[in-house]
Amino acid sequence: MQKPTAIVIGAGIGGIATAARLAKNGYDVTVLEKESTPGGRANQIVRDGHRFDIGPTLFLMPEIWEETFAALSERMSDHLELTRIDPTYKVHFEDGLRLELTSDIGKMQVQLEKVEKTAFTGFLNYIAEGSKHYKMSVEKFVGRNFHNIFEYFSPGNLPLLFQLKALRKHHANTGRFFKDERLKAAFTFQNMYLGLSPYDAPATYSLLQYTELAEGVWYPMGGVYAGIQALVTIAEKLGVKFIYNAPVKRMKEERRKISSVVTEDGREFTADIFVGNADLPYIYKELLPENKEAKKLENKLYTCSTIMFYWGVDKEYQQIAHHNVFLGGDYKASFDQIFNNHTLPEVPSFYVHAPARTDKAAAPEGQDTLYVLVPVGHLDARSEQDWEALVNHARETVLTRLAKEMGADDLTEHIKFEIVYQPKVWKERFNLEKGAAFGLSHNFWQVGYLRPQNRHKQYKNLYFAGASTHPGTGLPIVLLSARLTTERILEEAGTISVQNMVNALAQARA
Ligand SMILES: Cc1cc2nc3c(=O)[nH]c(=O)nc-3n(C[C@H](O)[C@H](O)[C@H](O)COP(=O)(O)OP(=O)(O)OC[C@H]3O[C@@H](n4cnc5c(N)ncnc54)[C@H](O)[C@@H]3O)c2cc1C
Repeated sequence: MQKPTAIVIGAGIGGIATAARLAKNGYDVTVLEKESTPGGRANQIVRDGHRFDIGPTLFLMPEIWEETFAALSERMSDHLELTRIDPTYKVHFEDGLRLELTSDIGKMQVQLEKVEKTAFTGFLNYIAEGSKHYKMSVEKFVGRNFHNIFEYFSPGNLPLLFQLKALRKHHANTGRFFKDERLKAAFTFQNMYLGLSPYDAPATYSLLQYTELAEGVWYPMGGVYAGIQALVTIAEKLGVKFIYNAPVKRMKEERRKISSVVTEDGREFTADIFVGNADLPYIYKELLPENKEAKKLENKLYTCSTIMFYWGVDKEYQQIAHHNVFLGGDYKASFDQIFNNHTLPEVPSFYVHAPARTDKAAAPEGQDTLYVLVPVGHLDARSEQDWEALVNHARETVLTRLAKEMGADDLTEHIKFEIVYQPKVWKERFNLEKGAAFGLSHNFWQVGYLRPQNRHKQYKNLYFAGASTHPGTGLPIVLLSARLTTERILEEAGTISVQNMVNALAQARA
């Protein structure tokens, strides 16, 4: 019997994982990727012996990765060498306070009580709430498909939305546990990984601090990109064909179905089903025949963007830890500037990643590889955005603070090369709508069934997997998206493969 065929548009982590899962379930899969290598936002840059992950540097929720490998009949430990990073971050405040966020409870107690007498009790309660939010979210909302609004707002789910504090703002809720503004900042800035302001994000996202401190922040030797390479190797072993330098230009429709996709160079690919892994709003706007939905999507809320500096440095800076966060200025005002004015805060906060602290191979001997992420507003035609000036201001802030607070006062002289990414690069290189680095936002109105679903309403053979569909952004969450999209495809094709049955039985037994 001939295998059903699938075309996946994009070799981001969502595209690779969906392709592998479909191949495992009997599909003949081809992935069309615009770039010359896989990974999308999780790609890497290698130059003069310096290796940078482009986007993700925090390997979180390893159990979700493990599940992906298991579903493909592989073991993660055969492919990835994971090291736990603890302290997870060193957090630097402008007034000189430093906090090392760590899973070492004793150390947390000493540090927190120095700042605020009751903060340690607050911390334990906060993490306990985060744990509840994490388990409930994954089980009831993030790890499942919703087929209609009634399933989402079902009598069973409604009380859970309240328990998850989905309508309460994260920053305000943190005030129940800590009074000191610096502590509220230390336990909410992680919202920025989802590209969200803690003043808008639901309090549900205390789950992030729980996962980091309880489940751990990990680093795969070779960088996060090692995770992408492992998944591509497995996908290829399962028969997936990757075609690089193949940007899809448009999708053709025929009788309420997608019949084929055409690449920039005029090649046409037909298949039974199509999976869009490129950013969902971009697919609606640029690849599909004209439709009202594209305009609606354009008007939705988007995550922030980032200015990135990738520095190859000919000196080692041991004092810069693996993960470092520098918080600056007026915390609330800085988020207003990013999310309302779509610009760079006057005093920007930033994050520095120095992978060579853990993985010597990330830089030549005696040298360093530094990645700097500065959150900034996304592209907005109505705002004044002088990117050159904003990039210069970001660079100056970072170098000044690293000199003053880390003793890296000769860093400028030791930067051998600099690669800069800013919102226009995110948009042009990866086709991210508005250059929003993390895709569509995750406020209450854009999660669960309210987020664009993973099957097109009109074209029944067009599916989506990736950060801007359900459940959302972040590598493990996109891995869940790949699982959910595959499940929907198999369910709708009426295909329950032997492998699926075996997996379901194994899960039931466990
Ligand atoms: C700066 C930054 C830091 C981050 N940090 C973390 C972190 O520490 N931990 C974490 O878990 N997550 C992090 N994330 C989020 C994570 O990177 C994303 O959620 C995830 O990589 C998104 O994967 P995806 O498959 O949805 O999309 P993408 O990675 O965007 O993949 C989509 C693919 O589609 C391709 N494509 C686009 N248009 C076309 C076309 N027309 N034809 C063919 N191909 C096309 C693109 O080239 C790309 O390869 C970070 C993201 C950024 C930007």
